[in-house]
Amino acid sequence: MILEEEVKMVINQFNIEYYQKILNTKLKCGDRIMVSIKDLPETSGVVITAICEYCGQSFRQQYRRYVTAGLTGKHCCSKCRYQKIVDLSMERYGTKCTLNLPEVHQKMVHNNLLKYGTTHSVTPESYAKRGETMKKRYGCEYSLQSPEIRAKANQTMYELGNCEVFSSKQQEYLCTLLNGISNFPVGHYHIDCFLKEQNIGIEYSGRGHDLSVRLGDLTEKEFQAREKARHTYFLNHNIPIIEFVSHTDKLPPDDEIIRYVNESIEKFSQGLKYIQIIFPN
Ligand SMILES: [Zn+2]
Repeated sequence: MILEEEVKMVINQFNIEYYQKILNTKLKCGDRIMVSIKDLPETSGVVITAICEYCGQSFRQQYRRYVTAGLTGKHCCSKCRYQKIVDLSMERYGTKCTLNLPEVHQKMVHNNLLKYGTTHSVTPESYAKRGETMKKRYGCEYSLQSPEIRAKANQTMYELGNCEVFSSKQQEYLCTLLNGISNFPVGHYHIDCFLKEQNIGIEYSGRGHDLSVRLGDLTEKEFQAREKARHTYFLNHNIPIIEFVSHTDKLPPDDEIIRYVNESIEKFSQGLKYIQIIFPN
């Protein structure tokens, strides 16, 4: 259940067409309107308040995530997500974990006997062999060291709505304002806010951005190198990036943000690939 009946929406070039059509009225960019939850597009990134059907607590979630989560059982907060997974497994397979199914277990034993001559798959030899195969195929010993495998895992988690990537209030705000997708997976990275139609990534770097440096986990140099690798990765995937840097964690007014984005789109069309905007400037 969603608590709000209506949400506030600021009209901009990215959503104007939709709301003009649905409200059957002429709007202009910058207009602030109240939109009934019923009228939100299923892809809306606006954050709503919902009630967890497990613990009864309210939680905040992007509307689009709420819609997808509803396709598979109850709505739940992040704390109760594990319970939902168990429930779904019980409902579909009659067990908390598919590995408990007799036929699955039987088949595993059978395959292990064929492959390793033992009922248990992990023997010292098989362990060593697994490492070798991984090295040959992916260039590393453990699966999560491989960017390729991590990218696949990222994509699957995103599709399942299990994406636990931290997002800041400002990041969510930008996504709602610009109708962008939050934590959009590109390879083994995530873009803070992705504008699908324009194929542009927006990164938000607030005060917490270089926390790992301030906590001493990374040196400034290491941190900068990682950031550069991240942005280069996006550029290699033909996604130009606008990076908003705010040292105070405050965002400029909506019309200013939109103006920055429009100016950047213009510059991107002239061949620029990365724009950093620092405020207060
Ligand atoms: Zn809950």
